[in-house]
Amino acid sequence: MDAIAAHDAFSPFSAEHDELRASVRQFVERELVPNVDAWERDTFPNEVFTKMAANGFLGLKYPTEYGGEGGDFLHEAVLAEELGRCGSGGLAAGIGAHIEIATPPIWKFGTEDQKQRYLVPAITGEKIAALAITEPEAGSDVASVRTRATRVDGGWTVSGEKLYITNGVRADFYVTAVKTTDEGGHGGMSFLIIDQQDAITASPLEKMGWHASDTASVAFQDAFVPEENLLGELDGAFKLIMANFQWERLSMSLGTVASMEWAFEKTLAFARERHAFGRPIGSFQTIRHDLADLMTTIHTSRCLTYDALRRFAAGQDATQQVTMAKLVTQRAAVNVADVCVQIHGGAGYMREYGIERMYRDARLGPIGGGTDEIMREILGRSLGV
Ligand SMILES: Cc1cc2nc3c(=O)[nH]c(=O)nc-3n(C[C@H](O)[C@H](O)[C@H](O)COP(=O)(O)OP(=O)(O)OC[C@H]3O[C@@H](n4cnc5c(N)ncnc54)[C@H](O)[C@@H]3O)c2cc1C
Repeated sequence: MDAIAAHDAFSPFSAEHDELRASVRQFVERELVPNVDAWERDTFPNEVFTKMAANGFLGLKYPTEYGGEGGDFLHEAVLAEELGRCGSGGLAAGIGAHIEIATPPIWKFGTEDQKQRYLVPAITGEKIAALAITEPEAGSDVASVRTRATRVDGGWTVSGEKLYITNGVRADFYVTAVKTTDEGGHGGMSFLIIDQQDAITASPLEKMGWHASDTASVAFQDAFVPEENLLGELDGAFKLIMANFQWERLSMSLGTVASMEWAFEKTLAFARERHAFGRPIGSFQTIRHDLADLMTTIHTSRCLTYDALRRFAAGQDATQQVTMAKLVTQRAAVNVADVCVQIHGGAGYMREYGIERMYRDARLGPIGGGTDEIMREILGRSLGV
């Protein structure tokens, strides 16, 4: 934000958003940044949610009647960007899963009763949410979900396994994609809000990066779900799942541009301070050119992302722009992190500098929320070919 002033001309934000940004940045620097190293070892504590809630950050885009701040997607975009600067992809992901992917379907498609029982406590941080779509045999191919909800008196029992679920262990409830009929393909899929209970076993998974995030496999064994926890239309969840991906991908893009900028600022400072052969390393033409390329990549990523954001926030169909932003920014971050590690030399490989964490965390981007290949499929198909 600060290093590359040229983006201001494209900024979709107003002075009001700048004020919010200042307060989120202060929170991130005071409450999150000092703890990211410790939380990398054992995931971040649940109290992060209640602290964020106390500042209104869990409900920026939600109506005041549910305890939200009555803002819109631009307000939450500010939050996504500032979390991108916390230096921990896993921490940003755990918070993001609650705000950006698990609670929006309840806000958009939930009944009044569901909003009172789940959205309100999610905004206060009393209940933590997870979105459970992916399964061992259904990742990119969402229509292959097998977790089955069987009709019983007063609701359903659910059996099956979800995989790679962010907030999977700590969640108080799961917004879960299940099959409600034996129909194959896109049909017969429903969303159920499933409360944490003894019939659910959540097991943490070890992973390359995002160590601060709680990622789990979640097994349901005849978990009971009452009738009133059907979210949206029975057998009609597929299109809700697809719609939900838009904000997930856009907020990922926003956070990633900010994290690239964070790494760039650190790397630029390092290139000015670190000396080799009697000169600052930034004065070597090869490193100067690397920095120029980083700056260009980040600015390009930001322009693409802000174009998608403007359209999305205006209520337009921004599927193509969101998809392009996700595709470009997530791959860009992998490359940016690699160059930043290289410019840091041995220091880049050390935990202390935070750049190696970004390198590991960034690798999730081209996979999570829909892979690069799926982004290209969506774009290619939108061309009618
Ligand atoms: C850390 C982490 C957190 C996550 N959090 C969540 C979460 O909170 N909730 C949730 O529901 N899911 C979550 N996911 C799951 C994530 O969305 C999936 O991993 C992702 O969509 C890819 O699915 P998959 O892993 O099954 O890969 P697969 O779908 O098996 O893909 C394997 C490879 O095949 C390629 N491929 C698949 N289909 C095609 C095709 N048609 N054309 C070309 N190539 C193709 C893919 O691009 C990929 O390269 C998370 C994953 C991770 C790693």
